[in-house]
Amino acid sequence: MTDGRRIEELRAGLARTEERIRAACADAHRDRAEVSLIVVTKFFPATDVVSLLELGVRDIGENRDQEARAKVRETAELLGGARLPRMHFIGQAQRNKAGSIAQYADVVHSLDRPALAEALDRGAARADRTLDVLIQVDLDPEPDPGRGGSAPADVGRLAQLVEGLERLRLRGVMTVAPLGMDPDRVFGRLAEVSSELRSDHPDARWISAGMSGDLESAVAHGATHLRVGTAILGSRPSHR
Ligand SMILES: *Cc1c(COP(=O)(O)O)cnc(C)c1O
Repeated sequence: MTDGRRIEELRAGLARTEERIRAACADAHRDRAEVSLIVVTKFFPATDVVSLLELGVRDIGENRDQEARAKVRETAELLGGARLPRMHFIGQAQRNKAGSIAQYADVVHSLDRPALAEALDRGAARADRTLDVLIQVDLDPEPDPGRGGSAPADVGRLAQLVEGLERLRLRGVMTVAPLGMDPDRVFGRLAEVSSELRSDHPDARWISAGMSGDLESAVAHGATHLRVGTAILGSRPSHR
């Protein structure tokens, strides 16, 4: 079932990534324990998820509901009752998928509008669960509506709404650095948005930022959660 060579590839990818995170934490005078690594397994099979768990990974990220849902089910079958990873939904969420996402996700990083918050809350109530949520912030000066994310100016209002919803727990903010923009600028700005949010919501301390290409910059600017795919699993097939 578990392919020995693939496990060695994943072990090496994890070790290289861990070394980068350690070095970035040392440079930023931060404690490694403040930073969580989420391994993004989109486009890769459930067998990789199982191998990653064997290698000590506890947090898995997925960005499409249909794929995530199937993979969670398959992973549970392969594990046969062993503990499932913590699932992070990191992709753009359509409102009609919220009920599905609420069944398997533990953390939703991509909350960006009131209607989605309400739909996730209803879905979580139906599944009798509570979801940790992060507000996704779009820091591109020329926002692309296709990409998702709340304007920085709307974060406060959205946070207020989430605080009033029984099944959602506001944890912080998330961003994806827009292509072609300097990650230091983007993550520096995200740190400011986070600090403003915490003045009204002191528990919303998580900062989800940083991927394979820019995790050092994210750590330097206070990221608490990194979402890393390619650097650990290899390059994704372009489609399937
Ligand atoms: C795919 C994805 C990642 C991981 O990107 P890599 O460059 O493969 O590390 C992180 N965040 C989001 C939102 C993603 O969709």
